[in-house]
Amino acid sequence: MFRLQRYFTITSLIAFILIAFLLGYFFRILAFADLIAASESKNVVLTQTFSNFLWPEFASFVSEAGALETDELQNHPRTQELYDYIQAQLNGLSVVKVKVYDLNGLTVFSTEIRQIGENKLDNAGYLSARSGVVASELTFRDTFSAFEQTIEDRNVFSSYVPIYGPGGEIEGVFEVYDDVTPLVKRLEQTQRNIIIGVVVILTVLYFFLFLIVRRADGIIRQQYHDLQESAAALRQARDEAMTASQFKTRLLANVSHDMRTPLNAIMGYTEMMAEGVYGDITPRQRKATTEILRSIGVLIEFISNLLGRAQLESGKVKLELKPLSPREFVEEIQPQVEVLAVAKGLSFHCEVAGDVPDKILGDRYWLRQIALNLMGNAVKFTEEGSVQLLVFREEDQWGFRVKDTGSGIPAEDQERIFDAFEQAGNGHVGSASGIGLGLSIVKELTTLMNGRVTIESVVGQGSTFTVTLPLHVPEAEMV
Ligand code: ADP
Repeated sequence: MFRLQRYFTITSLIAFILIAFLLGYFFRILAFADLIAASESKNVVLTQTFSNFLWPEFASFVSEAGALETDELQNHPRTQELYDYIQAQLNGLSVVKVKVYDLNGLTVFSTEIRQIGENKLDNAGYLSARSGVVASELTFRDTFSAFEQTIEDRNVFSSYVPIYGPGGEIEGVFEVYDDVTPLVKRLEQTQRNIIIGVVVILTVLYFFLFLIVRRADGIIRQQYHDLQESAAALRQARDEAMTASQFKTRLLANVSHDMRTPLNAIMGYTEMMAEGVYGDITPRQRKATTEILRSIGVLIEFISNLLGRAQLESGKVKLELKPLSPREFVEEIQPQVEVLAVAKGLSFHCEVAGDVPDKILGDRYWLRQIALNLMGNAVKFTEEGSVQLLVFREEDQWGFRVKDTGSGIPAEDQERIFDAFEQAGNGHVGSASGIGLGLSIVKELTTLMNGRVTIESVVGQGSTFTVTLPLHVPEAEMV
């Protein structure tokens, strides 16, 4: 069974952790991008301010500094002036270091005096600024030498910014180091707050979803449980139905067997009576015996169809294919139908086509059931004219065709009459002559034999039922 609650707990936990992490991560990326942009423009403004004030006065010192030795430069009175000036300007600002480079990469000035004289010509940031593009970098420093003191654990934002002369051309490069530790701290605090906020919101959400899921899980479990129970109940009902059906089949088999024996006796004695074995009989008595014989015929048909139906339904019908002579088969069933046809004044004719093999493989008992049903119906639903039986062969098939000149079957009923207990609307509905089982048995038996039954019928002119079956010839016959 699907464990919704457990599945929900695991997946939502993973999803929530992922959401909190991603939110924090994206905030950090965006916030730091903002911080860099803001700090950079601040450094650019600062540089602009410096150059506005300092450059007119110090430009010539910077451009000539290349000619001086490092210690001359470090101890130059202008260097001290510049230092004092910058220190005064930066008072109260977060700038922790300033450097000035000439166009050859020489560090002409640094607030960290010992760096004066270093060359930066191989520095990418310096080169970028010299070509006119500001270059910045945010770094974390364990220790950093700021004005007159060393500071520790700082986030330092440094920018190389070009210095433009009055003519608009680049005359030097400024490097400004800004201590952005408080800003970074604030961002990190905000990031922490966002993550905590998201976690709180998701926890509340999780709690509500958990309640919903727990309820859904309960319902699913209950339904599963109910389903299991009804499937138990169903199995029991099926077993009971099977037992009942087996009982029905057994009962029908016994009843029909036990009824057939006395019915055959009644039939035999009545036939003998009709033939005058027990003395002459009057025309009225003959009429009565004919009626008795017809009724017994109906009863026998009724009983064998009931038995056939029960056997088909219980799946007990097993075909036994044995060599069988179609001609003998016809000779055997012919008298049973002929007697009924003649009694109704119908002409009756049976024929086996010349190309039908002498022996075929078939189940005699069930073939008889099929033929008798079709011929019995033909006689039953024909008031005048004829009933014919033709056994035919068509290539690797054989079968029989029962043709009558009876009432015919309306087109709309021609499919339905093959269902059990269905009768056509051709005036015989509810008549005592049948219960609508015969054709359903014919159809199922022909299907079981891998064959088919078809019908052609015109109301008022008659019907033709054709049963077509695969032709199997016993091996001995084939030689
Ligand atoms: P039953 O004959 O017991 O009614 P069947 O299943 O044999 O049951 O036939 C179903 C119905 O099909 C019959 O009731 C009848 O309406 C119609 N039917 C079958 N055969 C013929 C036929 N040869 N001529 C006319 N109607 C027929």
